[in-house]
Amino acid sequence: MIKCPICNDDKSVKYRCDYKYEIIEDKKYFDNLDIHKCNNCDFSFAYPMPKISNLDFFYENIYRQINRPPYWLTEHDEDLESRYLEDRNLNYLLYVSTLINLKDVKNIYDFGAGYGDLGFAIKKKFPEVNLFCTENDVQCSNILKKRGYVNDKLENINKKFDLIITLHTLEHLTDAEVFNDFYKILKPGGLIFFEVPNCPDEYFSGRPYDGPHLLFYTKKSVEAICKKFNFEITRIDISSYSFQEDHRFQKESQDRYYRIKSGKTFDSLKQLIKKFIPYHLLKFVNIIRNIKNIDETYKIGLFTSNSNDNCYLRGILKKK
Ligand SMILES: [Zn+2]
Repeated sequence: MIKCPICNDDKSVKYRCDYKYEIIEDKKYFDNLDIHKCNNCDFSFAYPMPKISNLDFFYENIYRQINRPPYWLTEHDEDLESRYLEDRNLNYLLYVSTLINLKDVKNIYDFGAGYGDLGFAIKKKFPEVNLFCTENDVQCSNILKKRGYVNDKLENINKKFDLIITLHTLEHLTDAEVFNDFYKILKPGGLIFFEVPNCPDEYFSGRPYDGPHLLFYTKKSVEAICKKFNFEITRIDISSYSFQEDHRFQKESQDRYYRIKSGKTFDSLKQLIKKFIPYHLLKFVNIIRNIKNIDETYKIGLFTSNSNDNCYLRGILKKK
């Protein structure tokens, strides 16, 4: 019998499907997984969970490697630092500043901060804000430090927070117990702004891969989490691209990885050429190229919420 990590029920959990790896070589960190679903709280999860030591190694050393999805990092830091102005982040900023009175927010904690883009953008408008976070990746740590974040392990954080941000992180965990920790470090009435992939049947029917995600949320499972950990839902929305668009983007990204890796195609030649062209020239060429073929219709999806076909789930939860 397999227990649901949220409601602990073992009679409602059923095998759902095989686990699909984004990059097949990652199997050595994740092992042989299946996906199971709890019909009681609509929550799906990988089983058996990988070893924490393997996951730590993966996120510290593998996940953000150069030429690897989902980040496709380059060797140039300046690229990363301007990403806080990308549509996705500005969309977050609009959402939180509309729904939360940021003038009353003093301490923000970002769990799985990445480069801490949203907190950094908030601090530009609300300079009194203090930024804290937990992020293990070394490259991220350097940028977070420059941006004024105090970066520490969750168990070492001893401040109280008005707002916790956690974007595309909760799906990488092995259980939902982190909500206990969130409860402890929030001030009374403190808020959580979260976003995770939205995983109803439409997600499972078309997805090219699951990896490296381990937990698969729906609105109903977020409600179950709130009930368990004593939060109330202030706001919950489905957001961003349609499932079909999202699956297409994912497939393109995955295909690109394998093409580059094979070393036989135009993509790998481009990677090679890039090594020898001065960076600023390359950036200029990219700007020209982007002007020429603008196809930004995907933005309609990115900026439309609650169309009943959105691949992300976001919301604001309040400590009871
Ligand atoms: Zn359950």
